[in-house]
Parts: sequence; C-alpha cells; structure tokens
Amino acid sequence: MHRYRRAKIVATVGPASAAPEMLKALFVAGADTFRLNFSHGTHEDHAKVHAAIRTLEQELGRPIGILQDLQGPKIRIGTVKDGKLSVTPGERIRFVLGGAEGDKEAIPLPHPEIFAAVMPGHHLLLDDGRVRVKVVGLGSDYIDAEVEIGSVISNRKGVNLPGTVLDLSPLTAKDRADLAFGLELGVDWVALSFVQQPGDMLEARGLIGDRAGLVAKIEKPSALEKIDDIIRLSDAVMVARGDLGVEIPHEEVPGRQKELVRACRLAVKPVIIATQMLDSMINAPTPTRAEASDVATAIYDGADAVMLSAESASGLYPREAVEMMDRIIRSTEHHKLYRSILQATEAGEEQTAPHAVAAADLAEAIHAPAIVAFTSSGTTAARIARKRPAVPILAVTADRDVARRLCLLWGAHSVQAADIASYDDMVARASELVMAEGFANQSDLVVVVAGVPFGKAGTTNNLRVIEVGR
Ligand code: PGA
Ligand code: MN
Repeated sequence: MHRYRRAKIVATVGPASAAPEMLKALFVAGADTFRLNFSHGTHEDHAKVHAAIRTLEQELGRPIGILQDLQGPKIRIGTVKDGKLSVTPGERIRFVLGGAEGDKEAIPLPHPEIFAAVMPGHHLLLDDGRVRVKVVGLGSDYIDAEVEIGSVISNRKGVNLPGTVLDLSPLTAKDRADLAFGLELGVDWVALSFVQQPGDMLEARGLIGDRAGLVAKIEKPSALEKIDDIIRLSDAVMVARGDLGVEIPHEEVPGRQKELVRACRLAVKPVIIATQMLDSMINAPTPTRAEASDVATAIYDGADAVMLSAESASGLYPREAVEMMDRIIRSTEHHKLYRSILQATEAGEEQTAPHAVAAADLAEAIHAPAIVAFTSSGTTAARIARKRPAVPILAVTADRDVARRLCLLWGAHSVQAADIASYDDMVARASELVMAEGFANQSDLVVVVAGVPFGKAGTTNNLRVIEVGR
C-alpha cells in the first residue's frame, strides 16, 4: 500500500487512540508517525502503545514512525488557597519561591531559576496567556508584579516567560528518566520541548547519540533568535504553535511558520507544523473552514508533516480527524496552484547533492512515475525531497530505523530491503519494488539514484534511467 499524497501526518496517541484497533484505524486512515506525549500517561501506557504499533508494522508490512515527545521544563505555579484566585488589571500580586496554599501576596512559584533570571519589565504569562503580569520588583525569593490582563488563576497552571532566558537544562529529571525509557523501547524520534539555545540540542544529543532522531520544538522567542544553529543541530523541527503562540503575539505566528518551513527546507531537515490544526474536531466530526484552511496553508508552505494533538489523543473523533487531514492534504496537493506556490518558495540552490537534484529534475522531465533512491542514512531521499519534485520518492534502505524515520519526510515512501551488491542487483531491485509497491508498471521508465560502493552512506554518485521489468 502507498499513500496518494506527499506530506505526512503525525497523530498524537492518548486515551482516545491507544487501543490497538484504534491505532490500526488511524494508520489506515493516514497517520504516518505516532507521537507519544510524555507530558501525559505512565511508562506502562506508552510501552503498550509502542508494542501495538510495532505489531501493526509487522502485520501490515509497512514502517511506522514513533516520536517520543518529552515534556521539558514546563513551569507551573503551586497550589493556592481554595484552588483558585481571581486577579484584575492594575492589581499588585506577589510570587514566592516556597510554600503552598498561597494567596495573592504569596503565589507559590517553585522554580528558583526564574528568581535568578527575571528582571523588572519582564512578563509572566499564566494559563496559556489568559493572565499577563509585568514584573515591577523582586528579591531573591519573591517577585512583585502588576496584573495587565486579569482572569482566574487555578492550581498548577502553566507559566510562560517569553522575554526571559532561564538557566534551565532542557531536560528535567523526569525527561531524563523518560528518555532512557523511550530509547530502551526503541522510539525513532525524540522531541525536545522549550529549546532555548543551541547548547540545549548538544546536551540532548550527548544523551541520545544516534539512537533516535532529535526534534527541536520551536516554542520560545529565544530559540527563534538562534534558529539557524538550532536547525543545524537537529534532525527535524516542530513548529510548536501552542506555546509559541503564547510566547509571541498571535499575529506573528503565521509568518514565523513560513520562515521556519523555508529554513528547514534549506537545511534539508523535516519540519512538522503542530497544534490546533483541527482543534474543533476534538468535539465535532467536522472542522471549521478556518481549520481546513490552516492545514492547507501548511501544505502550500511545503511542510513535511502536519500534526494532530488532542484531536487524535483525547478527542471524540480521532479517526475522522486523520481522515479529514488526509483529504485536505490530497486535495491541496492536487490543486492547480500547488506546484507553482511550492516552487515560488523554494529555498536557495542546492550545491552539495548534484545527483539528488538531477534525479528530481530528470524524473519530472521524463514524467517518470517514481524516483527510486537507494539510501543508507536517508540523506539522499531527503535531498531529493528538498526539491519537492512532482514525482514520488521510493526510498529503499537496508536500515529498519532509517525506513521508520523516513515516515516524517515529504514525498518519501520508504521500504526496508537487503543491501544491493551490484548494478544488476540495483536494476532488478528497483524494478521489482516500484511494481510491488504500486508505483509503476512493466516498461515504465523510472529514475534510480544510488551510491557506489553500494550500502555506504554519503556516496550518492550514480544516476540512471531504467525500464521497469527489463
Ligand atoms: P505541546 O507542544 O503539545 O507538547 O505543548 C506543542 C506546542 O506547544 O504547540
Ligand atoms: Mn509546547
């Protein structure tokens, strides 16, 4: 089986989708990569889902990506008297480092890093920005603030500090334990939340090595300032619009999305657009017109993948949400303006991968039904995908983990197959796979790229046109 679209779907798993039959329904409906959200659920829950996905892979004979999303240093207030308190604009309130059951003069904020880094004039946003306060004074264990936007604050609500760079490791003690667990399970990707600076990526890489791909979640203004280095140090990027939209003004999020997609394409790194894509489908079987348009926009931008969060994790219509996303992507990719919009945003000229570039151009020129890329590390497939060719990429790799990671890459249909050893082997294998996977028929001309010596990463140096079945 193969999908009749290029962009990929990431579906977050949660109580609404953790059952094996539901995971299967979501895969069949179009989910290419599943996201395990370690902000919720127990290790046991995640292990069960992981096992069910691997069983599904076996059953269907298709690689499926699994992305572990680490919670990261999410900051929260402690508990307040009666569980909540109401604040109004102009009012003065105080946060304190210790204590519990506080009132407006002593709202517990058990994060010493904040007291060390915050300055007068900085803002604290509570509960996804529903409450905004400005710091007007501080000591080593208290912060005085003036309320700018008021509402009700309840226990353990999240706090965002858009203008403050905190001296925090991007990996909390919980994240480290979760990461060890995820790597043990064998996840394909690890996503790092609240990345603030390039050093955060290095710290995570030190722990992960090459055991999983590393995804930088872009949700802090400080990450935007160092974005080129962060992208360079990542294997993929997530535009995490939920927290990003709290930390920067709403009106700046769409432009940032476009910048990030372009920068990732230039750097040959897959990029995922995430959060609230079909939000109203948490409670309804159809999306709003604006949501349909938002998914389409990400596709016109050239994103590699679009993501479902609560829609598939805890909503009432997880399968319908995946089906809807699949339909919007296919419809957009078939629209007459799609190709010209994609080409208009093509980022820079690729200098380093002439064979990949030529493969994309040649396949389009001869109207080949597929480009077959023999790829050890997945890089050749990614370089072809960077051109966003009108021709699907059949990525053949001997490495099962690479086949799974390619489930995030635009345009790639990955297949795990034994290494080829010779030109004859290459021609025979390409021929056999394009037919078996349903991309081409006998006598079609397809483009094949490979590296010689075969099976060695970084050697792509061979480009051929072959006639299928000869
Ligand atoms: P989250 O990340 O769902 O883990 O918060 C995505 C986002 O912030 O958009
Ligand atoms: Mn987030």
